[in-house]
Amino acid sequence: MNNSFNHIQSIYWVFTQLCNDDCEHCYNDSSPFGKRISEKDCLDIINNLPEKVDRLILSGGEPLADIKLLHTILDAIRSKYGQSIQIMLQTNGDLLNIEKLITLIEKGVQRFDIASIDRYHKKAGGRLMELAGIFESCGVMGTEKDPLIEGGHYLAENPLSWGYWGASEDMWLGGNWARGKALKNNIYLKDPTHNFCSILSGARNFLGGYDDIPQEISIQLWKINPCCPGTHFPMGDARKQKVAAVLEKASQSAVFRMLNEGNPLKMGISLGVTEEAAVIKSQEMQNICLYCDEFLKCHRNEIFDSNGIKTIS
Ligand code: SF4
Ligand code: SF4
Repeated sequence: MNNSFNHIQSIYWVFTQLCNDDCEHCYNDSSPFGKRISEKDCLDIINNLPEKVDRLILSGGEPLADIKLLHTILDAIRSKYGQSIQIMLQTNGDLLNIEKLITLIEKGVQRFDIASIDRYHKKAGGRLMELAGIFESCGVMGTEKDPLIEGGHYLAENPLSWGYWGASEDMWLGGNWARGKALKNNIYLKDPTHNFCSILSGARNFLGGYDDIPQEISIQLWKINPCCPGTHFPMGDARKQKVAAVLEKASQSAVFRMLNEGNPLKMGISLGVTEEAAVIKSQEMQNICLYCDEFLKCHRNEIFDSNGIKTIS
């Protein structure tokens, strides 16, 4: 694990759940009626981010549906970090045009990920070639390389780039997540042998110490999570708590250290729950994240108190 949480490789921040689309698989319930947080909340969150962040991924919802807030966030990020941070924007691309793209580049966005090239989204990928033209006209290079996977130096070497991807029943960074509308609509991946926690966007390496995937946390509106799906109870509130202090506390909990290994089936060992018992329960739940939810609900008072995450050796 890292010794200092005041330097983190990557933060994935859903700053809005407002979206122009209303996809049936959306893991965080984004829609035209999606939840939003205030400008003050966002500025407080930026103030509470670690002193050094290599890469910030801004997502939603649809960031361009909340464009005034997006611009405010980009200005505040530049003012806090200067040129030392790489900024990525994850968007469905529906609302993007040349004028908006120019402003986003001016405000420091270096990488654009179009995450809507699939049948779930309203436009079902039909705007891809138009988007390619918009990016090309602004000198943004198209590449299939995913900077999330290619590592920390990628964006520095390719200052303006874009790429695209999408979801299918079997593939949304490892299967439709058992969250939000995918859960309600019963289209999440049901495979208890699939350990979502150990792959990109899972909890593995959120405290650092491994080099197979980036050290990344997610902030869902204000909830600090070790992974993108989000744990049933967040680790902390980024509006009120320093993210580094929350990670420091997580590093002192044997439960969260197992999540850092990407091993949720072992998260209960320090509390007397064997891996064998966890396997049986996760088979019953048909999904590792649903097992994780159940475990945290059953052991909430052993894992959290009014000050947040408790120390568990
Ligand atoms: S999946 Fe993306 S485009 Fe679809 S509702 Fe959710 S945030 Fe919006
Ligand atoms: S098992 Fe828990 S910690 Fe791991 S990815 Fe799923 S919700 Fe996140």
